[in-house]
Amino acid sequence: MVASSVLGFPRIGANREVKKAVEAYWAGKISVDDLTKAAADVKKTSWTTIKERGVDFIPSGEFSLYDHVLDHSAAFNVIPKRYVGHGLAPIDVYFAMGRGRQADGVDVPASEMKKWFDSNYHFVVPEVSEETEFKLNFNKAVEEFKEAKAAGVSTRPVVLGPVSFLVLSKASKEASSGFQPISLLPKLLPVYKTLLADLKAAGADTPPPTRRSPPIAPKIMLTTYFSRLDSNLSFVAKLPVAGLHIDLDRAPGQLDEVLAAVKPTSIVLSLGLVSGRNIWKADFAAAIKLGQKAVDALGADRVIVATSSSLLHTPVTLASEKKLTAEQKDWFSFALEKAAEVATIAAALSGSQDAAVTAALEANKVSIAKRREFESTSDDTVRKRVAAITPDQLERKSPFAVRKEIQAKHLKLPKFPTTTIGSFPQTKEIRQARAKLGKGEITNEEYDKFIEKEIETVVRFQEKCGLDLLVHGEPERNDMVQYFGEQLNGFVFTQNAWLIDVSCAAMSAPPIIVSDVSRPGPMTVRWSSYAQSITKKPMKGMLTGPVTILNWSFPRADVSRELQSKQLALALRDEVIDLEKAGISAIQVDEPAIREGLPLRRTDWDAYLKWAVDSFKLSTAGVTDQLQTHSHFCYSDFDDIFPSIQRLDADVISIEASKSDMKLLNTFKHYGYSNQIGPGVYDIHSPRVPGDQEIKDRLAAMLAILPDSLLFVNPDCGLKTRGWKETEASLANLVAAAQWARQTY
Ligand code: GLN
Ligand code: ZN
Repeated sequence: MVASSVLGFPRIGANREVKKAVEAYWAGKISVDDLTKAAADVKKTSWTTIKERGVDFIPSGEFSLYDHVLDHSAAFNVIPKRYVGHGLAPIDVYFAMGRGRQADGVDVPASEMKKWFDSNYHFVVPEVSEETEFKLNFNKAVEEFKEAKAAGVSTRPVVLGPVSFLVLSKASKEASSGFQPISLLPKLLPVYKTLLADLKAAGADTPPPTRRSPPIAPKIMLTTYFSRLDSNLSFVAKLPVAGLHIDLDRAPGQLDEVLAAVKPTSIVLSLGLVSGRNIWKADFAAAIKLGQKAVDALGADRVIVATSSSLLHTPVTLASEKKLTAEQKDWFSFALEKAAEVATIAAALSGSQDAAVTAALEANKVSIAKRREFESTSDDTVRKRVAAITPDQLERKSPFAVRKEIQAKHLKLPKFPTTTIGSFPQTKEIRQARAKLGKGEITNEEYDKFIEKEIETVVRFQEKCGLDLLVHGEPERNDMVQYFGEQLNGFVFTQNAWLIDVSCAAMSAPPIIVSDVSRPGPMTVRWSSYAQSITKKPMKGMLTGPVTILNWSFPRADVSRELQSKQLALALRDEVIDLEKAGISAIQVDEPAIREGLPLRRTDWDAYLKWAVDSFKLSTAGVTDQLQTHSHFCYSDFDDIFPSIQRLDADVISIEASKSDMKLLNTFKHYGYSNQIGPGVYDIHSPRVPGDQEIKDRLAAMLAILPDSLLFVNPDCGLKTRGWKETEASLANLVAAAQWARQTY
């Protein structure tokens, strides 16, 4: 029999119950017991519904109230000193590590967050040093295994492996220079040994598969995803593990060599056939073909059909979507539907004659055929335009040095120009107005008037504050990707398809790209030109870049990401050209997702960077030399992709610099970055107001590294999550520091 498995499940609940409970707990409205109860209900629902779908291996232990990496840190006693000794309950220490805490005399910032491989899910980075003493504070894997058992569901516990835990960790402040977290592996392993022995004792060693199981440890399914094993395969196949999971969604090409490597062993192979990263219905015929190959090579008892990764990256269920058309709904599968898919594929591979399985296979055949038919109706105009892209469309007319002179005359910005990253506080009033528009409680005209008023407020504030290059403040945008998706052809939207970006505090519902993308008409011109019309100062247009729109959407699976990115780039190119025609003289095209899109394997980087950078250039290069192009990135780890950042050839880039101790400026200096750059002078992710001396010190440190003529002065990201009070105070200090720099340098 071929078994089926789900590697992990969304943790927020079909109606975001966990998010609501966590936020209520943070607000002091519910007790820790209420919170635990709300979480338990969601876990129980997940376990039982996955079981009802006929899945054999059901995950437990991967649920989290904040982040699963943070769960491991807390369990392993990897708790930075700054969170200890405040008399906080363990749950509050845990949340303080995730989001900081500023109450009752305790004032500790949040830990650093990083993106989980190539996804937009952020994990809390563990901090370790030579002094770290690992110990098992509690065994969450055992607790949740027992919890599931009590709910009548036998599960397969999920644990983050020790190597991954340490590779994702960073050296803490206490660590000596040159310290490598992975050097702690021998110290960490005993904790895993205990953790696994406890699991075995609790009964977590479920058949099938009945493979070698070391006396004190349960059988291990070594789980890999998001890319291929490549050169690690021969090593992995020799490990004393009972099973190996491979991602055949991202890397179907690895199946043959993996089969050859595991065949002589007794390893059970788990085939990641149902994508954990997209929302498309699995093509059963294609999956069965791959699965049959494995069954032929290893025998049915050594094959498991699984999701490619945890389903954390997919929404809970399609059943919550009421607005998609029947045709669209038939294209998709969310987490619960995917659970049913693995069960059906496994049953088919086991030769099941069950009527329900036969019917599911038949229905899938019909759906896939319909989807293929839809896919074959491409927008020929867009396809032809992409095919006709020429290298000169990627380049500005003159090199940066020439453009810089022309732009200086045109824009007349002072030395050390001040600007912001685009958004201003998204106030309750703005969100309410948008909600009212959605419900039809106000007319389009009323809403537009409201937005104009907001823009006017933001413009007047910037004038008064003394900023040089203004923005309109983005009040009309619900989200920097959705806003554009809604105005482009080729996207559909969900109502309830929430994914976690940063714990349940920041979630997004990515739009879905379903067909060729094109721009029916201008998207932002009306707002930018309105903003420019009410001020004499230059106004910066504001767009989200092609790679970011692609990475923060669910892309199509039938055509390449490159093609989708180029289609987006052409739509944005037209928008950029229209903005220039409308009298806008600087345009920012944000690409905060360009780095996260990097494939896991370095050998794949060049191919990605080629089309990603080309897409940005295609979207921005259609203008005259006097238009100043900007781009923005929310991070600054450019060491390994520096040439690509230079190749973007944006006139100005703004980056994060306040958290990274300006390490990156040395990178820019080292490589001789030639264009203008605005390293963020303060961190907007905190309500804290930076003092003007603090900003001056930062500018001085920057100017010790960068040439005067290249420096812009700006915060490190958009201000949409900030309140007006701290925004006003912070920007006043920023302007004062720039004025000081003009006199001093
Ligand atoms: N222009 C966007 C803003 O200011 C940029 C957001 C981002 O970088 N994530 O909100
Ligand atoms: Zn940013």
